Amino acid sequence: MSTALAVTYADVARAAEILDGVAHRTPVLTSTRADELADAQVFFKCENFQRIGAFKFRGAYHAISRLSDEQRARGVLAFSSGNHAQAMALAARLLNVKATIVMPHDAPAMKLAATRGYGAEVILYDRNREDREAVAARIVEERGLSLIPPYDHRDVIAGQGTAAKELIEEVGALDYLFVCVGGGGLISGCSIAAKQLAPDCKVIGVEPEAGNDAQRSLRSGEIVDIPVPDTIADGARTQHVGKLVLPILQANVSDILTVSDDQLRSTMRFFAERMKIVVEPTGCLGAAAVLARALPFMGAKVGVIISGGNVDADMFARCITAAEPL
Ligand SMILES: *Cc1c(COP(=O)(O)O)cnc(C)c1O
Repeated sequence: MSTALAVTYADVARAAEILDGVAHRTPVLTSTRADELADAQVFFKCENFQRIGAFKFRGAYHAISRLSDEQRARGVLAFSSGNHAQAMALAARLLNVKATIVMPHDAPAMKLAATRGYGAEVILYDRNREDREAVAARIVEERGLSLIPPYDHRDVIAGQGTAAKELIEEVGALDYLFVCVGGGGLISGCSIAAKQLAPDCKVIGVEPEAGNDAQRSLRSGEIVDIPVPDTIADGARTQHVGKLVLPILQANVSDILTVSDDQLRSTMRFFAERMKIVVEPTGCLGAAAVLARALPFMGAKVGVIISGGNVDADMFARCITAAEPL
């Protein structure tokens, strides 16, 4: 059996070339107060400023651009009610490819409008009566579309890894890199970049307390499947990590930690008050662990990927009003 991982650093480097001039090179922010709280030098890579407001644009654009001319002529399909849907819709439009997005009929109106606004065809399904994977499979079959999943896909993983590549190229080798974990595409790609560019860097995943399937999967060596977790981190309400993801976690990730929803709310408030940025709950996972000094950093250089900033104003207000200040 081969021990080679599904994605290599060469794939991440190629993704970076393809994304050059298309994806935003997002800023890296620092905060004296964050450094004090963490007892570290903390560098926040701000993917909340990425196109569509989250890192998912990187993987979606890279994956679509890698399809053959024939596949591109037929179009792509994604099923998602979140950031992957908008990422696919925008990336497809930029590449002149037709996108079809399968979304639940009760998805937030804002997200439906945003996805349609990028020119995608939205197909609604009833999440109480139909299985979205079955709906998607039927449409893929009928129309000959290429399905691009949100995390368990080589070119998606390679694209997401460009966020960590940019961060390390900008600030130099890190001692730690903290990344949020849903299905594990972002941390997989970022860990591959980190191991190449800063071989001693420890990559740490962070997921919601209520949905610690990735932690259990890494510790047991088998993909653990859980019911949909109840957490405000909607981008991490995944039930299991990807099949391509687990071997990458096992090879590259030192540990996966968890944080509570209260910690996420306090971190959102910290970002708003102290750093003047809007970060969605899922985007706060890595930072919440670092600001709580989840590990004894003792002045170490710590990178944190802030994964996205898509949260509606009412939800944002509720979160920061309910939050204890850090
Ligand atoms: C999708 C998403 C995640 C989780 O990414 P995975 O690749 O599934 O682990 C985290 N944060 C935001 C903002 C997301 O959109």
